[in-house]
Amino acid sequence: MNSHSSEKKYRAIGQLPQADAAGQSAAEASAGSSPTTVSGITCRLPTRYGEFALHGYADPATGLEHVALTLGDFSDGAPVLLRLHSECLTGDTLFSLRCDCGPQLEASLRAIASEGRGALVYLRQEGRGIGLINKIRAYALQDTGADTVDANRMLGFADDARDYRFAAHIVQSLGIRQARLLTNNPLKVRALEAQQVEVIERIPLHAGANPMNHRYLSTKAQRMGHLQD
Ligand SMILES: [Zn+2]
Repeated sequence: MNSHSSEKKYRAIGQLPQADAAGQSAAEASAGSSPTTVSGITCRLPTRYGEFALHGYADPATGLEHVALTLGDFSDGAPVLLRLHSECLTGDTLFSLRCDCGPQLEASLRAIASEGRGALVYLRQEGRGIGLINKIRAYALQDTGADTVDANRMLGFADDARDYRFAAHIVQSLGIRQARLLTNNPLKVRALEAQQVEVIERIPLHAGANPMNHRYLSTKAQRMGHLQD
């Protein structure tokens, strides 16, 4: 059974339960094995920006489920336009003007569609990794005057608790060896390169600035190293 392979590190959602002859499920078998690779279950995902392939992944270390949207063929080894987007329920789906996540998500999909080739990895690490309820707590502190960095610190969290290790495994599993990364965040470039994903170009992604998120974007630039180029 391939779930015993030493190459398998992270199990995909679609590969989970299948009992083998000994009655042990694949999930049970892989839970005790040393994980090394990612493979996802895939379906078509037509969107307003084009028809992507949607790949699902489960991170056994965190229990979080993530997806990647891809367009085009990466088998030629040429650099791939790539966005790592961390979930923001308020910005991505509830039209919040407190941040720029929703417009960045849309701009990324639009850019990938216009090239006809690329990938967006959607990571379920809400609130820069602190979770939805804690993000609401942090927003409440920001409502009384704290900026996004101080609010996180007042709650006992890091300024940015996101982790890109599993994202790098997803990227590698998609066959992406070299990336042209859509981001304003140099830490994201370094995090990917630390996981052996070569970033040959950083492409600035500026979308969704508005009067309501002016302070937030300024704080990201001034206190979190985000670039405004
Ligand atoms: Zn957001």
